[in-house]
Amino acid sequence: MQSRRKFIRGAAFSWSALSIPMLSFAKKAAVTKPIVVSTWDSGLAVNAEAWKVLGKSGKAIDAVEVAANSIENTINCCVGLGGNPDRDGKVTLDACIMDEKANCGSVAFLEKIKNPISVARKVMEKTPHVMLVGEGAQQFALENGFTKESGALSADAEKTYKEWLKKSEYKPVMNIEQQQIKAKKGHGPFAPNYFEDGSFNHDTMGTIALDNSGDLSGACTTSGMGFKMRGRVGDSPIIGAGLFVDNEIGAATSSGQGEEVIRVCGTHLVVEMMRAGKTPKEACKIAVERIIKINPEKARDFQVGFIAINKNGEYGAYSIQPGFSYSVTKADDGGKVYMAESHFAKK
Ligand code: ASP
Repeated sequence: MQSRRKFIRGAAFSWSALSIPMLSFAKKAAVTKPIVVSTWDSGLAVNAEAWKVLGKSGKAIDAVEVAANSIENTINCCVGLGGNPDRDGKVTLDACIMDEKANCGSVAFLEKIKNPISVARKVMEKTPHVMLVGEGAQQFALENGFTKESGALSADAEKTYKEWLKKSEYKPVMNIEQQQIKAKKGHGPFAPNYFEDGSFNHDTMGTIALDNSGDLSGACTTSGMGFKMRGRVGDSPIIGAGLFVDNEIGAATSSGQGEEVIRVCGTHLVVEMMRAGKTPKEACKIAVERIIKINPEKARDFQVGFIAINKNGEYGAYSIQPGFSYSVTKADDGGKVYMAESHFAKK
């Protein structure tokens, strides 16, 4: 009679022998890679920079950094030192970056340094920390070869700030940025901040990418909400709020009213929803609905938009208000701008 041990060994052998051909029949989802997705229509030019790296089989982490740098370097743009200042007339920058190994770096309340995303990357690579803020972040940047800029406002920001000062109320006003932008119309060379149809743009560039090796990374850079209180930090430099990457699942980033994104750990929530089997768009919608549920009335007056990609290179977005655009660049189409679906309809 066959011994029990021999029987088990035999059974295991025949199972594995059977399972090899079975596995090869299993249907694999097609993967779109490389692919890069950025917030807003201004993301199209940013994606083109990322593509210079991704298109040559470069790494997603390098692609998202150069993408963020390209908009940070643009004078009179809504991101970087050209962005709107705080209530005291000073531009303060927030940024974070995250790679496929969950390495991450972040800077917040950083002044007079042109490329906060690259400082964030240095924090990630050269320190045992994740986040540096204010004076300490600036000191670290200077020690690592970054130059101290003058701190002068861009022509656009100067004009907008002067306008804001006329009625400036020195208290946080939820929707002040949109109000100012509506009054002004048009902002920077990339895209108007305020569109004729009533939608509005924000000051954050979030970029997420999947490279040829199937690795995900993301970067998020901003001058934050215009005319914020001095010292205010939004969602953009906070891992899990403004940006989150999980190389097994996907990546997400956000733009809009940072306080509301922080409240729900927005991009972490989006990635967790993708882990639970939702598509990128469904996952973004769940995060948006979570924000609205907290205060449905207040949510009528602010904007938050999420974008996400998953490990297969599928992408999606969702926002509270209409007008949240996002840019997608992959090999076969050279880049396209889409309008995200939103919870509320056009007013
Ligand atoms: N999320 C940014 C912040 O709250 C602002 C924006 O996207 O416009 O600082």
